[in-house]
Amino acid sequence: MTQAPKIGLVSLGCPKALVDSERIMTTLRAQGYAFSRDYEGADVVLVNTCGFLDSAKQESLEAIGEALNENGRVIVTGCLGVEEDLIRETHPSVLAVTGPHQYESVVSAVHDHLPPVPNKFVDLVPESGLRLTPRHYAYLKISEGCNNRCSFCIIPQIRGDLVSRPAAGILSEAEGLVRSGVKELLVISQDTSAYGVDIKYAESRYRGRPVKAKFYDLARELGDLGAWVRLHYVYPYPHVDAVIELMAEGLVLPYLDIPFQHASPSVLKSMRRPANQEKTLDRIRKWREICPDLAIRSNFIVGYPGETEADFAFLLDWLEEAGIDRAGCFRYEPVTGAPANALEGAVPDEVKDERFARLMEVAQDISFERLRARVGRTIEVIVDDVRPDENRAIARSKWDAPEVDGQVIVDNATGIKIGDIVPVTVTDSDEYDLFAEPARH
Ligand code: SF4
Repeated sequence: MTQAPKIGLVSLGCPKALVDSERIMTTLRAQGYAFSRDYEGADVVLVNTCGFLDSAKQESLEAIGEALNENGRVIVTGCLGVEEDLIRETHPSVLAVTGPHQYESVVSAVHDHLPPVPNKFVDLVPESGLRLTPRHYAYLKISEGCNNRCSFCIIPQIRGDLVSRPAAGILSEAEGLVRSGVKELLVISQDTSAYGVDIKYAESRYRGRPVKAKFYDLARELGDLGAWVRLHYVYPYPHVDAVIELMAEGLVLPYLDIPFQHASPSVLKSMRRPANQEKTLDRIRKWREICPDLAIRSNFIVGYPGETEADFAFLLDWLEEAGIDRAGCFRYEPVTGAPANALEGAVPDEVKDERFARLMEVAQDISFERLRARVGRTIEVIVDDVRPDENRAIARSKWDAPEVDGQVIVDNATGIKIGDIVPVTVTDSDEYDLFAEPARH
């Protein structure tokens, strides 16, 4: 049997801190970790600090230094954790810092840097955790929070600034999911292209080698796991170009979910959207040169305060130029606490409705044309559902994310099961869906 990962624990401070240490130990023990009495035997050392008096702070900083010298892989928690800057200035190589009473954060920091080893004889939950998605696909969250400040959004107020997970933790989770039968990984966050900025693209060790917390590096590693990898919530920054090459190589699905929200420069500026200065159309053209099969999904807001008819017409033209494969649309609504509420130039509801209908019509025409161009091709699809009485399978192509995009309806689907990835030949299309038959070998 694989050996349990071992943790060394240094517990400083008052009885409350001691109780915290006991709780952390109990949780980790229940998850299959073992404990080491010395630095050498530990895979990671946890230092539970005290920050009550200056002398206690000093003692905590010294304990962190000692653990780094003796072991090198140190996670800090406890009261001094609230002074993360001080800890990182003094000891830049600590793996993670969490504050007092943050059991979940410290346990998840341990998972990221020293993944638990699953043991099917004693674990109460499967290795892939308990999931609400079907067995064959799973969402993989790579960060929490957001550094942008879009004027219509309150997510940064609710969830705070961007906090990226170390790459090793994400990759171990993804590996576990694939081992448990997941065939499609859906990478999510608030801003996937910003992944790792907050932790300065820090390296963590995965399969014995360092991996940077960088969008490209993570996408490449995920692509090597043998599952479909779909990227959601990406912004059109220049560094995304390199990821498109991974799509052309077939490592990552040729699919990008980019919430553009608008195209008119003045509306984007008023929305304070990330990458609003980028020459997006040029960028999309370049992406399609690199990966001609790329499908782009996006969302748009109509009726944003101050949106003129000219802004809206600009958006419609842009949609056609960009050839957005899948477009979702929302009528603007104020959100309590969002800065956009203070903007002038509210658009009347009937104008919002009319723009919504016009946008959806244009989006439908684009989708219809783009899908028609796929008729006759043989493609791989992943099966979400089967209807034996109709001899039909409901599947998705690489260009379709679950729940939000279209479907591939496969007839004569004898023997095809949910979760299968099968080749089919596209026989027909409509505005949203493709129709297909199993490919003849
Ligand atoms: S809408 Fe803007 S601020 Fe809100 S989560 Fe997305 S990128 Fe961040």
